[in-house]
Amino acid sequence: NKQISLASRPKGMPDASTFQFDSVELPALKSGDILIQPTYFSVDPYMRGRMNAGKSYIPAFEVGQPLAGGAVAKVIESQADGFAAGDVVTGSLPWATQSVVSAGALKKIDTNLAPASYYLGILGMPGLTAYFGLLDICKPKAGETVVVSGAAGAVGILVGQIAKIQRCRVVGIAGSDDKIAMLTESFGFDAVVNYKTSSDLKKSIADACPDGVDVYFDNVGGDVSDAVIANLNFHARISLCGQIALYNTTETPVGPRIQPMLLTRSVLMQGFTIGNYSKRFSEGIQQLATWLQEGKLHYTETTVNGFDALPEALLGLFSGQNTGKMIVQV
Ligand code: NDP
Repeated sequence: NKQISLASRPKGMPDASTFQFDSVELPALKSGDILIQPTYFSVDPYMRGRMNAGKSYIPAFEVGQPLAGGAVAKVIESQADGFAAGDVVTGSLPWATQSVVSAGALKKIDTNLAPASYYLGILGMPGLTAYFGLLDICKPKAGETVVVSGAAGAVGILVGQIAKIQRCRVVGIAGSDDKIAMLTESFGFDAVVNYKTSSDLKKSIADACPDGVDVYFDNVGGDVSDAVIANLNFHARISLCGQIALYNTTETPVGPRIQPMLLTRSVLMQGFTIGNYSKRFSEGIQQLATWLQEGKLHYTETTVNGFDALPEALLGLFSGQNTGKMIVQV
């Protein structure tokens, strides 16, 4: 049985030396245990944060221990009530080709409702993040302009579409012309700005948002966010979801860059982690599933094949290799 562990804590961008492939024996099943075989792994930007030592909202990975993340698996053998061989389950699972886990770590999923991998995206953590982060924090109103950074990613592509369902003008920010064409042609975005090729991002955003920006869903932080914030309207709302532009920096740039803008324009900015909404997850999933069935939400994935490709797929998030949700199929 193969597993991938954290070999060393990266400084800056992780590379091959961050990961270690091991062969391990599986323990015998005790009462309450389940032997699972993952079929899809999710790779997510927050995993980079877990490679750092120190306290955060989620425990750090330990050096020498397997990495772990959202996954879909099939049950091979069960010593637990309520689970049987052949069930399809999801949970936060070790990066291993098979694992013995306790039943409490797993939830059964219904693959008649949606393909199994969707439970790692639109019907999972990224979907809930888009839903609550936009609607609960920003409360967008019809006719308002919503800007989302990381627009072609797992969360961003849903944020834009949910904002369209609220009848907003939606402007995305993304890093390639292919992504821009897809968002405007297939996902209903009104305009998308390429942050990599724009020579004056503040102006490009102003051009795409003739009425200013009422809502900013921030997936990336850094210079992109500085440029959006310069275009905010009075009483704008910012949902601080992610700061991927800063996850691999060795020094975080700080300074009084945006505060004056927030103050003079009475802007509300709120950070969140999706765990804040755990009591409302079923409400979110139900609404997302309904919109998906009604054809109001479209979904797309980038699928990388093979267990050994997990590290490469994770690192690919930081260079924009994915369109929609990045998934590893094993
Ligand atoms: P994505 O699917 O959006 O993948 C990451 C994307 O970010 C890439 O495809 C790339 O697209 C873009 N990107 C990478 N590096 C940079 C950079 N330096 N500057 C600007 N853009 C960059 O990931 P998710 O949708 O899963 O996550 C999006 C954000 O939301 C992340 O910051 C993540 O940490 C956060 N998040 C927060 C949660 C919470 O509870 N608060 C829960 C889930 C996610 P491009 O080609 O456009 O550059």
